[in-house]
Amino acid sequence: MEIASQNGKKWIKTQSGVKVIDARKSPFELKEPNWVSDKDVERCQDCYMIFNMMNRRHHCRRCGRIFCDRCSSYYYSIPRMGFVDPVRNCRKCAVTARNERDFFQRDIRILRGGAHVNVWQQNRPNTAESRRTPSNPVSAVCYLDDTRWVLMISSGSCDYHFSEIPLSAIKSYWTEGQVREAFTGTSSMTITFDDGNLLETRFSACEPPYKEVALKWLTALQRAMDTLPVRNVESATKLTNCEIPEHFC
Ligand SMILES: [Zn+2]
Ligand SMILES: [Zn+2]
Repeated sequence: MEIASQNGKKWIKTQSGVKVIDARKSPFELKEPNWVSDKDVERCQDCYMIFNMMNRRHHCRRCGRIFCDRCSSYYYSIPRMGFVDPVRNCRKCAVTARNERDFFQRDIRILRGGAHVNVWQQNRPNTAESRRTPSNPVSAVCYLDDTRWVLMISSGSCDYHFSEIPLSAIKSYWTEGQVREAFTGTSSMTITFDDGNLLETRFSACEPPYKEVALKWLTALQRAMDTLPVRNVESATKLTNCEIPEHFC
């Protein structure tokens, strides 16, 4: 049931809670799960306590499984499903919900803020030749235009954008080196995306004074990739002698 609408957004009341439907589709969107049927479950799917008049069934809004009240009393919004108000989550889903809350509150803001990074772009990704002879990097200002969910790669002067990468076009990514620790941050990331042809763009932190911001930005970009439904290709450092990764053969 629709209860309000404004600026391309609709608020509707569902059995799970109030949902916002945004006409501008987000690449982070997740479909609501099908709910497990009440009759199929006699015990809480976490603590195994049997259900009865006193111990009622409750559905986790994120995974659709059935739990007792105690095991599903973790209330978080699920913006990826449109739930802007806190809704019922199970213990496991609550962990994901907390991580995603941090991602939307912190990392999206960092991505919007942008950073100076080195960028390589090539249109013959993952061939032996392209790996041996990467084109020269350009120093660019990269940021997320989140009204359109597009990564903008700009020369930094006069709004001249030499490349735009819609998040929804990204197919795969990989990071390089010891990059997954929050302490050091992601230092280099390559993404492939489909722009009619498969293209490859590599982002790498540049030297001080821009390095610190660049590492934060690349780490936020990595979290975005972890959240998007894209393929995480094995770390390129595992490749020897610039071999073509198996995934692309
Ligand atoms: Zn339980
Ligand atoms: Zn759950």
